[in-house]
Amino acid sequence: MKYLRTSALRSGSSGNSILISTDQSSVLVDAGITGKGLTCALGELDESPDKLKGILITHEHCDHISGLGVILRRYKIPFFINKETLKQVLPGLGRFDPDLIRIIYPDESFRIDDLEIMAFPISHDAVAPVGYTISSGLGTIGVCTDLGCTDERVFQALSGSKLCYLEANYDQELLRMGNYPLKLKERIAGHHGHLSNDESGAACIRLLQQGTERIILSHLSQENNFPHLALLTVNDALTEAGAKEGLDYQLTAARRYDVSEPQEI
Ligand SMILES: [Zn+2]
Ligand SMILES: [Zn+2]
Repeated sequence: MKYLRTSALRSGSSGNSILISTDQSSVLVDAGITGKGLTCALGELDESPDKLKGILITHEHCDHISGLGVILRRYKIPFFINKETLKQVLPGLGRFDPDLIRIIYPDESFRIDDLEIMAFPISHDAVAPVGYTISSGLGTIGVCTDLGCTDERVFQALSGSKLCYLEANYDQELLRMGNYPLKLKERIAGHHGHLSNDESGAACIRLLQQGTERIILSHLSQENNFPHLALLTVNDALTEAGAKEGLDYQLTAARRYDVSEPQEI
């Protein structure tokens, strides 16, 4: 195997999809991207659509599955999903070949071509939301967005992931002062909502301690965050904990509407 590469194709409440590829195969985490958007993104990254071997679904929210039906019809690749989430997703998928369904179970690893995958439960207001680790002989990539809190299970699952996508959804002060109705603010900040920049910073300290070298802040809110603010908050937390950017870690933020710069491990 020559490389393990990743790029966020979209990130945020308007759509989420992450590509992870080796020289032999590739998988998507979530399908919150249009069929056309995916085709363009693959072209931009010089990735052959023939390499796409599966789509890993995290949960049923629209920003993660809006393109799934179209992508299944266009690319005819299997999608991996737990039973509870499938039940939620099925009615909106339209016609597709049911042979493409692969049921997965939390904490049970499975293979897609040359990649080893594991789903782990996370805390979010969906029926059975999960994060994923995706490993090749070259290392592991963790994907962990849409979670209201980080618990021991999450850290255990991500332990040893060289690169992690971690949510930094909102700045506490911007959320507090913003125009959202109180109920929605409470939902976002609650244990089944999303991670704030501060919570993300605290989680990053732990990730670094357990072997992560690169973090891509993801699923940033359009209304309650700014990329520079998320990066600054997390960088400050890591610096305060004694880590040095560039030496101990690399930190970037995934782009909302475009393909993010690919990263290789
Ligand atoms: Zn989401
Ligand atoms: Zn969600």
